[in-house]
Amino acid sequence: MKKLNILKISASPTLAINTLAMEKRALGETVFNLSAGEPMISVAPQISKAITQALRDDKTHYPPPPGIPELRKAVSDWMNDWYDCDFTVANTLVVPGGKFGLFALFQMLLKKGDEVLVVAPYWVSYTTIIEFFFGTLKIVESTESSGWKVTATDIEKKITSKTKFIILNNGGNPTGSLYSEKELRQIVACATKHNLLVISDEVYSTLVYDKNKFISCGQFTEYRDNVIIIHSCSKSFAMTGLRVGFVFANTEIIQALSGLVSQSTSGTISIVQWGALAGFQNAQKIIPKINTEMQKRRDVFIKKFNTSFQTKFKPPASGLYAFVSLKTLGWKDTNSEEFCKSAMQYANVAIVPGSAFGKDGYVRFSFGEKPPVLVAGITALAKWLRSKKS
Ligand code: PLP
Repeated sequence: MKKLNILKISASPTLAINTLAMEKRALGETVFNLSAGEPMISVAPQISKAITQALRDDKTHYPPPPGIPELRKAVSDWMNDWYDCDFTVANTLVVPGGKFGLFALFQMLLKKGDEVLVVAPYWVSYTTIIEFFFGTLKIVESTESSGWKVTATDIEKKITSKTKFIILNNGGNPTGSLYSEKELRQIVACATKHNLLVISDEVYSTLVYDKNKFISCGQFTEYRDNVIIIHSCSKSFAMTGLRVGFVFANTEIIQALSGLVSQSTSGTISIVQWGALAGFQNAQKIIPKINTEMQKRRDVFIKKFNTSFQTKFKPPASGLYAFVSLKTLGWKDTNSEEFCKSAMQYANVAIVPGSAFGKDGYVRFSFGEKPPVLVAGITALAKWLRSKKS
């Protein structure tokens, strides 16, 4: 047989830890999952009821590729009401998850050699997707002392004639970074000046704590043609497995993406779109409830963390994660992958190495799990680390 020239996509960096976790569970051991990329809560009854009803009502045929009009209207209205945007149905596309939205965008717009600026630490899939479509990754480093944020000036320094996109993850995974209106406006203005597209990943927009305000790049209507927004029901409605996401962009991009969707996925699963619609119709009730619960879990996590490790780690302003240096944990080495393997091996705690996010020497804890799991996980980790010292 002819040698197959198979394009290889890097597997998830958490795979080795997951494998260890599975082996331990098979042996009957308890594993504390502090690596979940999702709020571990049940989907709201309004959503599950709407999905079941859609099934009963025979809404199981091919959906329109860009999404059912009712949902496109509801989600664009929601963006306009909650974040002061100005989107119409024609600016809105329903996709099977925010990740696929990003994948489709790059498939359509990225040409070999185009440079994409990505702020590090970054969500793991950005780099893999860019690599998949032969883009050139350009990192803009952020630091813990700057709240893991970059400025327009940091970005401008990295721009060349080949730069085409910048990906900005406001409500940051893994860091919990949150940008102000002024910071965002300067970044979007800078991108526009250099004719770049800003892909603003806003999937954590509703998980913003302590009465902080989330600012969407969609609010800067004067830069409309340079901004594309990725959104999702995954975190806002705890619907990760149901796979509903959105792209907001100018009509030309939405029409082109819609063509791509019609020739690939044929749209997003019909019945979950009706579930998502029920979510947006009840957004005022469901979203604050999830937000309050996640803020509670964050606070439980941080309190236990700070007492266990005698630190003063600041609660993250957004998201589901605490991005912590190994130094904070009293660990001298900087190899985060080795640390995470050992944490699983000896403390049965699953956490994600910072190297996966482009920042070794750090690890990502998720506070998406229920409080007892968070407390037990930190207790087990602290016990193991103490035993290493004695
Ligand atoms: N963007 C970020 C920063 C994420 O953390 C995730 C998921 O973890 C996504 C996008 C994709 O979300 P989904 O594909 O579930 O909508």
